Amino acid sequence: MNRQRLLENFLQYVRVESTANPDASGYPSSPGQRELGRLLAEQLAELPLEDVHQDEHGLVWATIPATAGRAGGQAAGGPAAGGPAAGGQAAGGSGPATVALIAHLDTSPEAAGKNVRPQVIESYAGGDIELESGAKIAVDAAPELRELVGHTLITSDGTTLLGGDDKAGVAIIMELARHLSEHPELPHGPVKILFTCDEEIGRGTEKIDLQKLNATVAYTIDGGGAGELDVETFSADAMKVAFTGRNIHPAIAKDRMVNALRAASEFVASLPRDRQAPEVTDGRDGFVHPYHFEGGVGRAEVRLLLRSFDTAELERQAAEVRAAVDRTQQAFPGLDCQIEVTRQYRNLKEGLQKLPEAVQLARQAMLNLGRKCEETIIRGGTDGSQLTEKGLPTPNLSSGQHNIHSLHEFASLDEMVAAVEHLVELLRLWKTEY
Ligand SMILES: [Zn+2]
Repeated sequence: MNRQRLLENFLQYVRVESTANPDASGYPSSPGQRELGRLLAEQLAELPLEDVHQDEHGLVWATIPATAGRAGGQAAGGPAAGGPAAGGQAAGGSGPATVALIAHLDTSPEAAGKNVRPQVIESYAGGDIELESGAKIAVDAAPELRELVGHTLITSDGTTLLGGDDKAGVAIIMELARHLSEHPELPHGPVKILFTCDEEIGRGTEKIDLQKLNATVAYTIDGGGAGELDVETFSADAMKVAFTGRNIHPAIAKDRMVNALRAASEFVASLPRDRQAPEVTDGRDGFVHPYHFEGGVGRAEVRLLLRSFDTAELERQAAEVRAAVDRTQQAFPGLDCQIEVTRQYRNLKEGLQKLPEAVQLARQAMLNLGRKCEETIIRGGTDGSQLTEKGLPTPNLSSGQHNIHSLHEFASLDEMVAAVEHLVELLRLWKTEY
């Protein structure tokens, strides 16, 4: 493991502006993602890898071939009997498990990502971190700093994101590829590397060809801190309610006007606020979240997010919204209401159950390294939620990111090193035939 090289590569990657653009229709949504991908493809091509290329969508692909004794048909793990059926792998295919490692090239549009000037704090001594901009990363606001004394931390200068989400994941995978190529004695089956685009704007899996990836299991390297294993996400639907009223000059509106704006307002006000709302829920509690409102007298529209770890609860949430719409319609005779429900993603846990090794081996690898492992839940979705739903079980692994999507973002080099070590051990454990 080359800690200094990992750091220098991370610093190089965060300097490439690759902020996703939610208003762009092209793919990827910003040219910097393609630029960073090109750089990575060039660096990967210098290693003894196979199939290194950047595809027409900007995604970067590479294969680390299996080490001797782990190639198809002669896996060290013995015969395939009893192995679980994996959705990502071609049916009936027999060979060692192919593990895909995935990170995303884009950064969040929620804060500036241009002219990132990373600052390195060697051997963090504790206490608040002063940024060049004069801002401070306060321990009170980021209590995990107490656990990171002695670590090498990287921040921005306080005027931009750092971009550790997910360039920490990118740098971890790149160091792993370099480390494995220098250490052919470390055993592993075939490993696929995939760098994706536009994860931050919900389009991270759009261009992934799962047949081309042909993996048994995948891991996104996009989690916070260290030692966490994200094994559950929300299940998610979106709802749109359109209210159509009747507009007419207010001077002659008596008994004729139907005000859609007023109706939509009453509808929103009638939704629960003391329960099932993001402002009052945490942990395992789901919510209904009206997040967008637009309109006038003639027409108004409300958009809502439904979120729950229990997929069946989405139905109950939708029913509650429909009931509120019905009550509004009754209160405003002549009002027309249209409801649209869009399926978004499903709890990772459901799809992971078909390949329990995906989580078991990730946990075992941490324990083998003498580390603690915490299984965690995400109050949101990951690219893994979508990949898992499509048949490729994909938990999310820690990558040393902290305070993401914020000017106070930072990353821990020590945790990134730990993530590479974890992957080396995890790949060693994946030896069963599938
Ligand atoms: Zn991310």
